[in-house]
Amino acid sequence: MAWEIQFQHGIHLPQIGWSLDATRRAERAFVSHAHSDHMARHAEVICTRPTARLMRARLPSKKRVEHILPFGHTEQLTPECTVTLHPAGHIFGSAQILLDHTTHGTLLYTGDFKLLPSHAAEPCATPRADTLIMETTFGLPRYVFPPSAEIIVNLVHFCRETLAAGATPVLLCYSLGKSQEVLRALADSGLPIMLQSETHRLTRICAQLGLDFPPHTEFDAATHAGHVVICPPHAPGLLKRIAAPRTASITGWALDSRPFHGQQHAAAFPLSDHADYPSLLRYVELVQPKRVYTLHGFAKPFAATLRALGIAAQPIGTDFQTELPLA
Ligand SMILES: [Zn+2]
Repeated sequence: MAWEIQFQHGIHLPQIGWSLDATRRAERAFVSHAHSDHMARHAEVICTRPTARLMRARLPSKKRVEHILPFGHTEQLTPECTVTLHPAGHIFGSAQILLDHTTHGTLLYTGDFKLLPSHAAEPCATPRADTLIMETTFGLPRYVFPPSAEIIVNLVHFCRETLAAGATPVLLCYSLGKSQEVLRALADSGLPIMLQSETHRLTRICAQLGLDFPPHTEFDAATHAGHVVICPPHAPGLLKRIAAPRTASITGWALDSRPFHGQQHAAAFPLSDHADYPSLLRYVELVQPKRVYTLHGFAKPFAATLRALGIAAQPIGTDFQTELPLA
């Protein structure tokens, strides 16, 4: 008998009574990473140590029961099912969950993942599984990211040029994940760096958890001149405190030729913490699933791509509830 997969504010697996990345409070949920669209105030969670710590910082709860699992360590979840967490390569501490059930076989859920090496996340694993639930944010052939080393060279060039012109380079990065990746990627540049306050707080937690960073300080309006500033895309208050800001958007969507976050920026760099289209295909090839459920972004066309390759695949998520389950 196959795994039964329900979608309502995240994935729910009724056969074992656990949810995966539920976005509303669940009794029991696996939390793949501490991005706000993957967590809620659950009663009981399974996650990695970094995710538990970051979740405490972003979504405090005194009552939450945490089951912290190290990567690669297998435990009994129910009498019939074991659980193992594997790195997802998306942000620091991000995990995939592998469930092995005596009746339903193996199920792997990726959460958000990046197959190519990240500057701040553990290398992505590709365990084999019969049933795969994967994110497909960039699931169209036009999303092919350039090598990250090339992007970083261009980013450093943008920062130096901006500083030489007497302006302040402002790198717009989400406070958790992208900011730490960019900060670490700039380590060899020797550029002086300031972080927006929330970014600074989350970076300090990552450092306490063992990730090392080049020297940086918290943003200070009085002394920011001559620094590269890393701040979240929606921090207009901070931008107003910078005399001559030149903003750069840092996102995989930079491959599209539309403005990002509703504003125009001086530059855009396609550094992503997700898998691009070739990586999504490569990942499926390595996991060797018998059936695939696609989630997020271009879930429908990517499922069609997999079906054309002879793999049973269908999209799941809010838009696809009416579609029939896989035979
Ligand atoms: Zn994420």
